[in-house]
Amino acid sequence: MVTGSKHLLDLPDGKRVLLDCGMFQGEGPASDALNRRFGFDPKSIDVLVLSHAHIDHSGLIPRLVAEGFHGPIFATPATLDLCEILLADSAYIQENDFRYDAKRAKKQNRAMTEIGPLYTSADVDSAMNLFRIIPYDAPTEILPGVTLTFIDAGHILGSASVHLTVAGREGVRRITFSGDVGRYVARLVEPPKPFPQADVIICESTYGDRDHSEPSGSVRELLGHVQRVCVEQQGRLIIPAFSVGRTQEILYELNKFFNDGLLPRVPVFVDSPLSINATAIYRKHSELLRPDIRKELKSDQDLFGFPGVEYVREARRSKELNTRKGPSITIAASGMMDAGRIRHHLLHGLPDPNNAILIVGFCAPGTFGERLLKRPETVKMYGEVVPVRAAILTMDSYSAHGDRGELLQWISCQDPALVKQVFLVHGAEPALHGLREVYSEHGFRNIQIPEQGQRFEV
Ligand SMILES: [Zn+2]
Repeated sequence: MVTGSKHLLDLPDGKRVLLDCGMFQGEGPASDALNRRFGFDPKSIDVLVLSHAHIDHSGLIPRLVAEGFHGPIFATPATLDLCEILLADSAYIQENDFRYDAKRAKKQNRAMTEIGPLYTSADVDSAMNLFRIIPYDAPTEILPGVTLTFIDAGHILGSASVHLTVAGREGVRRITFSGDVGRYVARLVEPPKPFPQADVIICESTYGDRDHSEPSGSVRELLGHVQRVCVEQQGRLIIPAFSVGRTQEILYELNKFFNDGLLPRVPVFVDSPLSINATAIYRKHSELLRPDIRKELKSDQDLFGFPGVEYVREARRSKELNTRKGPSITIAASGMMDAGRIRHHLLHGLPDPNNAILIVGFCAPGTFGERLLKRPETVKMYGEVVPVRAAILTMDSYSAHGDRGELLQWISCQDPALVKQVFLVHGAEPALHGLREVYSEHGFRNIQIPEQGQRFEV
């Protein structure tokens, strides 16, 4: 499973710590069913530790609370701010989808399969009240004998690896959960930091079998796409992007082109209220940005905005963009294209050969994005068969996930002889096996790839 991250630690004294509470993403009833059953009793969890705000790590927190969890939720300050907007948005989507399904069921004269939305805005409010913030590098006792330290994971604003020390009868056990590991190349946020020696490591492996292309080439590549699609073909460049992270990376890049006089005169639309709010949080926590970017802030107060950028909040304006003539760049969510305003841009944009869809992020198996990456002749959307004539372009250099080499760099702060167990999670089969190979070549032993729901003694 690539999405829906959740790891449960049963401590010797009977306490239970949940690491992340992510939502499964994908189309159809299979993901919905996975999101409706935890496989454990939420009431039995004592504390939740959250690595970062992305929905595939945080998205089921309100459901956990609705089902009886009432312990503290530990997160970094920026993660709290981002969760506030991401979870509210997620509840809005759940409620809307449910209403839409109910309407359709009534029209088709059939019974509803689901009894209600996954969660509501009220559930989000209850969940937000449980958040407790802990900054990076500040060891904090979260349960008797259990100390938590967040270490910057360099993935998105506020993202952390989780380092726990647990005192037990046989001494202290040190457990590190990677969260999502970011990049060591120049990006908005600082690179991942080394973490204290661990006995047990739970590590993500999204790109465990691949290396990304050079980021220095990406600048020219992005500019090349803008030039070709928007200037030469007078078409629309549609960029599906996560509202948190990717959108800000792209905006920052475009802003730099603008400052350097390189950006052609093309309107840029950021069509996502969530992205607008998330961008404001990036501005608020600018102390977490890379030092050279913080310096840039002195000469350019707004690194995510420039003349020609329009932030689109109103749904009415978003609809106008769907049929707008002339070249433009549109950034909209969601990144995997299963939901959000991007769907309407695709519906209207895919049939035109002058347009291009630029995929800059990871698309998990089973998502619409993954289907589009196979460049089909047609796709089905909203009950319509839509021809895919627009070019499907990809760039992996904007990835917020470390590649194989970076996952190795992340773990290289450890003495492999002292690490007793490594668990590889959060990746597709080839990535998991690829990373296992790399880690074992570098001396790590006992590397396991757990099945969903599998239990281990550590
Ligand atoms: Zn993430």
